[in-house]
Amino acid sequence: NFKTNVPIVTYEDIKPYIDRIANGETSSILFADPITQFIQSTGTSEGKPKLIPMTAESFEKRMVKPLLVDLVMKKCISGLDQGKSFYLFFVKPDMETPSGLMASLYTTSYFKTQIFKNGLAKFCTSPIDTILCLDNKQSMYCQLLTGLLLRDEVVRIGSSFASVLARSIKFLEDYWKELCSNIRTGYLSDWIADPACRNAMSSILTGPEPELADLIQQICEDKSWEGIIKELWPEVKCISSIVTGSMSQYIPLLEFYGGGIPLVSPNCGSSEACFGINLKPLSKPFDVSYTILPNMAYFEFLPVNNDGGGMSHETATVNKPVDLANVKIGRYYEVVVTTLAGLYRYRVGDILKVTGFYNKSPQFQFVERQNVVLSIDLDKTTEVDLSNAITKAKLVLEPLGIMLTTYSSYADTSLTPGRYVLFWELKMKGSNDLPKLDAKIMEECCGIVEESFDFTYKSLRKGGVISALELRVVKHGTFDELMDFYVSKGASISQYKPPCCLKSEEAVKLLNLGMVGTFFSPKTMF
Ligand code: AMP
Repeated sequence: NFKTNVPIVTYEDIKPYIDRIANGETSSILFADPITQFIQSTGTSEGKPKLIPMTAESFEKRMVKPLLVDLVMKKCISGLDQGKSFYLFFVKPDMETPSGLMASLYTTSYFKTQIFKNGLAKFCTSPIDTILCLDNKQSMYCQLLTGLLLRDEVVRIGSSFASVLARSIKFLEDYWKELCSNIRTGYLSDWIADPACRNAMSSILTGPEPELADLIQQICEDKSWEGIIKELWPEVKCISSIVTGSMSQYIPLLEFYGGGIPLVSPNCGSSEACFGINLKPLSKPFDVSYTILPNMAYFEFLPVNNDGGGMSHETATVNKPVDLANVKIGRYYEVVVTTLAGLYRYRVGDILKVTGFYNKSPQFQFVERQNVVLSIDLDKTTEVDLSNAITKAKLVLEPLGIMLTTYSSYADTSLTPGRYVLFWELKMKGSNDLPKLDAKIMEECCGIVEESFDFTYKSLRKGGVISALELRVVKHGTFDELMDFYVSKGASISQYKPPCCLKSEEAVKLLNLGMVGTFFSPKTMF
């Protein structure tokens, strides 16, 4: 009855109800239990974060997941219960809807609960007030300082997503001298102005520790930082952070700094629901499978193409969803959830590949959505986002008689923070001449592209997690060489379409050879 009467929906279908509740109507228009808050998702709708309803019961039920993950890790990795976890956790300010309901990140709400404060937080190095500090820079500094002061007790290091760890290591590179000086003198830097942070740190940084400072300085002064995590935290048994899907780009970096410490990707989920946990924490990052926790939602699975594609709206009507126990190993599915908090047969958008079963519960690998072309940290820019942004920006060039003939892009994460790089092949209308490139105009194009990206991109960019967009102009004919390159690798000329995003280093190098100018959007975005 449920399946015949309730249609499969996307966020856009329920958005009118969410908007009405956010604007003051009773939440009973969507669900019997009262909605107590919204969870802000990194997924966006019309450029803004999606608001996912939450009830008291569903919020409480979710809090079981971190405990379960912790139990599994302790069972599989010995020594984890003999010390503390150096988790780098951060919060974001809450938003208030016109109706007075709060909209927060799930983790932000979770860190504020007594269950976290009296439970897992007791086994973390970071004092709760440093986690809850809204100034991420002060928060990061204090958490790193605590991690270093308590280095002998640290048995696990981690963050929710690998991108956060990458950022933390970069921060350590920039601030280790100041951190050492604080440890040496016993005085906390003056720019840590948050009273709660200062107060919390006063019981950890209790006096000068020159020997510890010398030791850390000696380790950090080493030219190569290969294996630095192991050297700074010698008792660490694992690095725990999500490294699957778009986060897999950080695996080489974490392996480099980790110096052989196992990388554990603990769980998989979204603001809408928790999907599963990793029951074999020590499996290699590229082999990680998560096991569905069947009581976290009512799960259905929409079959999609083997490459994770076929996610058009028609899929929902053409392909019948499959029940939890009936999925097939090796097949790809889009997750559909019915939750305790007002989502009914809701398409989350994430794609999973079934790899096996644990009892009757499916195990899966996380597959990045096919239409995501650029990703840094939690941003996911799709082919359509990119094409819309470029269509707007090139309007600036048209009155000048300049034509954008082809474009491509890639996410440059070789430096932290990473940036998106666009390649544009430009020529004059009516000839193949290279246009005169006016830096001001080209920079304006960069700005327009960034402006039209979504909320997540813009907030990461404003927060300094993504750096200024780069536009590399290449001379006429460069993209033909790119085609020759792909054809030499086996692509068919008749079906060739320039990739809107490059995954191969060779391809990037080839386009760089044709570069005639490079431009950046303004350093900071307001
Ligand atoms: P949010 O709804 O903002 O919490 O973001 C959740 C999104 O993060 C999911 O929809 C996934 O795209 C991504 N995500 C969550 N867990 C994993 C994982 N284990 N591996 C890769 N991506 C993940």
